[in-house]
Amino acid sequence: MPAIRHHVPDDMLMGYAAGVLPQAFDLVVATHVSLNDDARVRLAGFEELGGAVLSDLKEVDLAPDSLEQTLAKISRMAPTERGTRSNGVFPAPLRKMIGGDVAAVKWKSIARGTKQAVLCSDGEATARLLYIPAGQAMPEHSHRGTEMTLVLQGGYSSVDGHYVRGDLEVADQQTNHTPIADDDGEDCICLVATDGRLLFNGLLPRLAQVFLRI
Ligand code: ZN
Repeated sequence: MPAIRHHVPDDMLMGYAAGVLPQAFDLVVATHVSLNDDARVRLAGFEELGGAVLSDLKEVDLAPDSLEQTLAKISRMAPTERGTRSNGVFPAPLRKMIGGDVAAVKWKSIARGTKQAVLCSDGEATARLLYIPAGQAMPEHSHRGTEMTLVLQGGYSSVDGHYVRGDLEVADQQTNHTPIADDDGEDCICLVATDGRLLFNGLLPRLAQVFLRI
């Protein structure tokens, strides 16, 4: 398994620790953390410091044994699931929401084998699964706000590198990318959270279909 090089930003982890993220982003961060040791250790640190740092401007007096407490907390957590696919493609937080693994997903076709399934949408943010056949490009789209894409199966190449299972790509309004699924293996499945609507270029489904040459 290649090392994960694309991590969740600190502010997103802090928001998760503080419980203030929209459900869609909460789901992506929880799933990412279950696949990524580095994110898990950083999260444990934020959770340990969270109450004091986030809610109090007073100087923080750390307990003398705060490091030991943090390490103990980490050791009590379930082991990360990265690399172990014996339990299926979806890590626990995602499996819980869907009620199963890939076979339980109610996909809706977008175009040429590309499918999606919206998991939650609260007007503030949306989480969806995207299924991109090996070798195909994701539908072209722009970003109204933040978009977090977590790879669960296969891999893809984007503007700033190659992403595989457990990797997280964060895009914003400035990002212009057309990720392309690897063509040498499994179809690519990603969990994507967006705030605002994911704007497929031109808004018109027919235009996307022309672009994808259906
Ligand atoms: Zn994007």
